[in-house]
Amino acid sequence: MVGNGEPKPSKRGLLVVISSPSGGGKTTVVRRLLEKGGEEFTRSVSATTRAPRPGEVNGRDYYFLSEEEFRQRIAKGDFVEFAEVHGHLYGTLREQIERELRGGKVILLAIDVQGGLSIRRAFPEDSLLIFLAPPSLEVLEQRLRGRGTDAEEEIRRRLARVPMEMEMASHYDRLVVNDVVERAAEEILQAIRARRAKEELGPAAQVEKG
Ligand code: 5GP
Repeated sequence: MVGNGEPKPSKRGLLVVISSPSGGGKTTVVRRLLEKGGEEFTRSVSATTRAPRPGEVNGRDYYFLSEEEFRQRIAKGDFVEFAEVHGHLYGTLREQIERELRGGKVILLAIDVQGGLSIRRAFPEDSLLIFLAPPSLEVLEQRLRGRGTDAEEEIRRRLARVPMEMEMASHYDRLVVNDVVERAAEEILQAIRARRAKEELGPAAQVEKG
């Protein structure tokens, strides 16, 4: 089998969790990061029990599963983490994450704060947690309404979670304010590059990571 497997990269990949309140702009920032990062970057495709929004594609945006399918996959141990968010189940699939970590990729995960902290517990050496904060609550509310995809009740449900999310964000590695997408994406890119450079210096440089 020698030579037929995946190429052996010199370093392991990195899981980059990007969390924000709903409407915080993480989808746009993740898209921008994928463009900037090129081949080295990829994103985790989560599974969810929520219905697809117009324009969303199964297998690209999410794997859309019934609740029964989702529960079966929990029982099989297919998820690295899963959480209930806004009344639906969302989970990160183990197989993709582990394969791409071995392949040396930077894997972007746009997941909620509970999921982010689970990822850190599961991969303490291989994760970087970034919280994307809206410039203000007013801006967040405007973005949610402007999206026009969610009913009023859904918008209120999403806003009600923000204090909990901000509290959990204090455990994240970095807080980046999403005022202008390009600037926020660049700041995250620098944080990723800095972390990768530190890894190259070897275990001694990891000691002060905390
Ligand atoms: P949306 O329904 O707007 O796409 O996502 C709702 C929330 O679920 C967002 O905060 C999103 O980051 C989070 N989410 C998406 N996928 C996952 C996942 O795999 N795990 C967890 N824990 N949260 C996720």
